[in-house]
Amino acid sequence: MKALVTGGAGFIGSHLTETLLAEGHEVMVIDDLSTGRVENLGAVVGSPRLLTHWGSILEDERLQEFVDEAQVVYHLAAAVGVRLILEKPVETIETNVLGTDRVLRCAAKGQKKVVIASTSEVYGKNDQVPLREDDDGVFGPTVKSRWSYACSKAIDEFLALAYWKAHGLPVVIMRYFNTIGPRQTGQYGMVVPRFVQQALAGRPITVYGDGNQSRSFTDVADAVAATIAASRHPKAVGEVFNVGTGREITINELAALVRDLTGSRSEIVYVPYEQAYEGGFEDPRRRVPDVSKLRAIVGVVPQVELVTTLRKVIEFSRAKPHPSR
Ligand code: UDP
Repeated sequence: MKALVTGGAGFIGSHLTETLLAEGHEVMVIDDLSTGRVENLGAVVGSPRLLTHWGSILEDERLQEFVDEAQVVYHLAAAVGVRLILEKPVETIETNVLGTDRVLRCAAKGQKKVVIASTSEVYGKNDQVPLREDDDGVFGPTVKSRWSYACSKAIDEFLALAYWKAHGLPVVIMRYFNTIGPRQTGQYGMVVPRFVQQALAGRPITVYGDGNQSRSFTDVADAVAATIAASRHPKAVGEVFNVGTGREITINELAALVRDLTGSRSEIVYVPYEQAYEGGFEDPRRRVPDVSKLRAIVGVVPQVELVTTLRKVIEFSRAKPHPSR
């Protein structure tokens, strides 16, 4: 099989590319390297079954050719990270909305299957536990640009489902819940690589707000396995799937756990949201997925223990320290 992975040099995209290649498939990667890195593909770069192309899904003229050659398109190219979204609000909306629009248009020409990478952000402020795929998205006001990310990904989902309903384009939507693992950078705000790098460097571990907000973290290997399985299951077409675990941890507990696992003496400090992000920043309190749909239809659910994933992240960071702000 030949797959196209947009955003294939990114965090999840590079893990997906490696797994597909390890299974013996051919992979084409298109990535504009805005947040992706060539080195993320370092382990597979010489493979004769890998083609890399550094260009933007928004304008690259070869996108159609790559989609035409592929049997399946994994669309992971997107603007990610709360910090990046606040710093580059126009690029976030354009990349997420116009980029997905272009990928779907190209796919519709040959009725190619498209797997859309979405996010638990689409539930917005809905902190009901657990969240099911048909629960409401609750977004804040348009003056708070944080919500543009949630809305842009929600539009991606609407658009993909519209292509399925109106034109029979086979689409599958994966809603990832706080995916973590080696190669994720803390530069754009993600909490786990930031805490790990802070702990390893002996710098203060920065908990935003009161630290009682919680998240459910997913190992990237589990996210990739679920994505590949869903992309191959006929009953997954036209469906949306939560991808995560029901395991919840507060950010306070996470900070303490990272400090323990790294053997660090870093102090844990509290940073008000207005200092960390911007005045009036709204942070979802809880985000726990119900994964019964993924289990029932696709037959796989994430299962790697959080401590196991954190150990992998720590090992990666030790070997390859890179700065986080
Ligand atoms: N967070 C934190 N310290 C940091 C970075 C993030 O306490 O240095 C918090 C953040 O406010 C949120 C949680 O960690 O409550 C998860 O943040 P992340 O940006 O990783 O994911 P998301 O907010 O998209 O779930």
